[in-house]
Amino acid sequence: MPTGRGISALDSAQHQLARAAERMSLPPGTLHRLSRPDRVIEVSIEIQLDDGAPAWFTGYRVQHSNLLGPYKGGIRFHPGVTQDEVRALAMWMTIKCALVAVPFGGAKGGVACDPASLTGDEMERLSRGYVRAIYRDLGPRWDIPAPDVNTGAQVIGWMADEFGRLHGSFEPAAFTGKPDALGGLPARTAATGRGVAYITMAIARRIELDISRATVTLQGFGNVGRYAALDLHRAGARVIAATDVHGGVYNAKGLDVPALAEHASRTGRVSGFAEAEPLDRDRVFDVKADVFIPAAIENQITGETAPRLRTRVVVEGANGPTTPEGEAILHDRGVLVVPDILANAGGVIVSYFEWTGEQTAGGRGQAGVERGLRDHLTRAVDQTYTVAQLHGIELRTAAYMVALRRLAEALVAWRGRQ
Ligand code: NAD
Repeated sequence: MPTGRGISALDSAQHQLARAAERMSLPPGTLHRLSRPDRVIEVSIEIQLDDGAPAWFTGYRVQHSNLLGPYKGGIRFHPGVTQDEVRALAMWMTIKCALVAVPFGGAKGGVACDPASLTGDEMERLSRGYVRAIYRDLGPRWDIPAPDVNTGAQVIGWMADEFGRLHGSFEPAAFTGKPDALGGLPARTAATGRGVAYITMAIARRIELDISRATVTLQGFGNVGRYAALDLHRAGARVIAATDVHGGVYNAKGLDVPALAEHASRTGRVSGFAEAEPLDRDRVFDVKADVFIPAAIENQITGETAPRLRTRVVVEGANGPTTPEGEAILHDRGVLVVPDILANAGGVIVSYFEWTGEQTAGGRGQAGVERGLRDHLTRAVDQTYTVAQLHGIELRTAAYMVALRRLAEALVAWRGRQ
């Protein structure tokens, strides 16, 4: 097992894949095929800063697998973006789409940049520049990007517009997570966090944890963390701690989550919220609660932080928040880990509805979207639990096994033989 604080997300992803594959009898070449991406695109993007000076950024798009459908995955703007990180995130997308049975493959994109140091106009130039660099490899039936860390509907709107200009035609189905006015689904913004909350409640029922009396802590209060917290708060759970990159807040009686969300939207951070005590960002691992939801970035639950967690369940809102070493410690301590590929799949499920609505000029309405989201997630939870119980294994490996079975079937179907 790879160990140490410096483990890369790619090492974690490869380790998880191999661990599930070794329990299965897969057609020859399946593991080889899925351990490396179909294509890696690396580009240099030049933009002009507001003061007229040029600046260069490195961007990536990794198309991991299209065995089950067009490549699909978000685009991340973050200083820590590397080719290896994007490769890991792309592989997780392939596994996630297979697990929740949406007919997409896996991809991911990223630009190494610090959005906090860029103005709105510079962000727009960078978003458009990224699309100009890779647009030949995108398309509504080939590779469909979406938002991720630091890229919300606005960034996707600029990208969709640039893509349309380059193609000479408006292609709304080439991106999901667009602004509502450009054909986005209102439910997409909340979908990942809402799915995290829904999965948390589904798991709570299975372990006889009464969610209306449960306590919850969160790392990350962005798109995923905020909507997960709002839904869990609505279900009666007490959200007692929340952090973001700037700091954190704590209230033993339960935070007023809608008021905190409003504060965070207005100020760009959770700290400074009046009805709570300040909490040092990294102390979130020490707050005792029933459920901990990491909803920030990779490699947060490690050999160092896992022993500090005093929680019954970890629901991975973020992608890759737990290193293999951290996971082994949680397992030994009897902490249930609900894996990212299951917990945060709500976004790609609703993206699929956005995309099919555009493909068919139809659409299923808000109630239909909510129902569809629940149906896909419930099926994936049931299948994962069945495999976990059958083999006596943890949920992550079971979820990978469900996904790998579907991918292997597709591989055999494409080849026409085992
Ligand atoms: P976001 O940019 O909206 O929010 C990220 C949050 O994490 C922010 O509050 C930020 O301040 C915080 N953060 C960053 N580093 C931190 C640190 N070291 N300690 C504490 N907080 C920290 O991003 P998001 O869209 O919410 O994505 C969060 C995670 O969820 C990522 O791993 C992403 O890949 C994953 N995810 C997102 C979606 C989606 O639809 N947006 C879908 C699936 C998975």
